[in-house]
This record gives sequence, structure tokens and C-alpha cells, in this order.
Amino acid sequence: MKKCTFQRCLRAVPTMTSAQRHDLRIAIDHRDKKDLVAEVSSLVGTPTACPHCHHPEIRPWEQAAGLPRVRCRGCPRTFNALTNTPLSGLHHKDRWMFYLETFSEGESVRKAAGRCGINTKAAFLWRHRFLALPACLKARQESGIVETDETWFLRSYKGQRGGLPRRARKRGGRAQKRGPSREQVPVLVVRDRSGATADAILPKDGHRETFAVLKPLLARDAVLCSDGRGKGPIALAARERSVAHRAVNLSKEIRVLTGVYHIQQLPPTIRG
Ligand SMILES: [Zn+2]
Repeated sequence: MKKCTFQRCLRAVPTMTSAQRHDLRIAIDHRDKKDLVAEVSSLVGTPTACPHCHHPEIRPWEQAAGLPRVRCRGCPRTFNALTNTPLSGLHHKDRWMFYLETFSEGESVRKAAGRCGINTKAAFLWRHRFLALPACLKARQESGIVETDETWFLRSYKGQRGGLPRRARKRGGRAQKRGPSREQVPVLVVRDRSGATADAILPKDGHRETFAVLKPLLARDAVLCSDGRGKGPIALAARERSVAHRAVNLSKEIRVLTGVYHIQQLPPTIRG
């Protein structure tokens, strides 16, 4: 808005009836809430899986502190886009973007605090939390050549009171049965060539569950590379997502398929 138009609006305020001022307040509040949601999602994205158990099935669940909450169908806890990020628990969300501006202009902590109307201690905390943000954010989208593979982890019952379906054990341990079983959970790890990495616990080792994780993650131009089996869950999910799939046969030690298509970027523990 031009400065002269804004001044004209301000001059009109005393001429408004109380009902008109009430409507104006509601309109501004509504605008502020929409801006806040957009600003927060520009910083941390929108949730695509549960931050507690990584279950991919989530659904909208009311609103709190100006942000929409989401409920997980797996655990079933509620959360918002900030849960388990360094920005969780910080107050005055409406001032974050302004603070980042002062930060990028190279202002000192004390000056930034003064400009944002927060105390120096809070400004110092904010600086550390914002600096920690990039490292904690999981990739929300992967493009180009994308490597993916499944691995299995022992199911953890940490924090569960009683009713353990197996004997308690100390940290770590081994599965009693070899290969996939109810003692272990499948985890899908996905990484593109820029290093953007995401992972998700799959409720089941099936193509529906794999598709639910890959669908929001893969860009249209993605070429998915995985360990073999043209009819495995990953290949089927790639077909359903309409992205190209290149199979790399690890069991035959052929890790590089044709030049650029390989799964060497994944950690060795995942590649098997
Ligand atoms: Zn969950």
C-alpha cells in the first residue's frame, strides 16, 4: 500500500462507527493469522509425517496458538509444523520474520532485540535456535536422481508401561528371527544428489505404505534409484507416482547401473 493511501486510512479511523471498527479489527486479526501460518510454513514447511513416530498418515486437528494442529493416525498424538524443531516453544511468532531481517542485515543481538521489542536474552536464544534450524529440517521434497532403500530396525517399546510383547532387554540387542518380522520395523530412507535426506517408519512393508511416503516427497522430475526387483514396493510406488525408476541389483554386487544411476550416496548400513 502506498504511504498516502495508508495515511488516508488512518485519518478515516475516527470517522468510523464502533461496528465498523469492530469489523476492521476482525479483518486485521484474520489477515495476521493467515500471514503467520504462511510465514511459519516458509521457515519449516508443512508437516508430511508425524514428528514423534514418523507415521505418514496425518489429518487436520483443530488450531492452537495461531497454527493449525495435525493428528497422527499411528501414535496418535497431535502436533504442529514447529513440533520437534528448534523454533518450538519460542514466543512472539509474529516478530520472527522481522528478527530474521535484522539478523541478515548483520545487526548486533542488542540492536535486533530493541528493534523487535524483545529482551536481549530472548534475542540471543532466537539467534541460536534459528541457526540450528537448517540442520534439523528433514527434506520436504527431493528432485533429480533420488536414491532410496529400506532398512529394518528393532521395534522399540521405550516408555511403554507393561504389556510388552517380548522379554525386556537392555539397550540395543538383536532380533530373535532373521529377516523381516514383527520384532522389527521397516524404515524408508530417501536422499537426492543435493544431499536432502528424509526417512519414515513404514507401518508395513508394502507398496501402499511406501507410496504414501514417496508421494508428497518426490518432485515430478525425480528418477528413483533403488535396490532391484522390478515388482518390489518401491518400483510399484514409483509407477503409481508416475516417476521413472532405475533398479540397482545389490545382491549381484552391481551397485552402479548406468553411470549416474546408483545408490552409493545412502549410508552403507542402509545399502546393505
Ligand atoms: Zn505419530
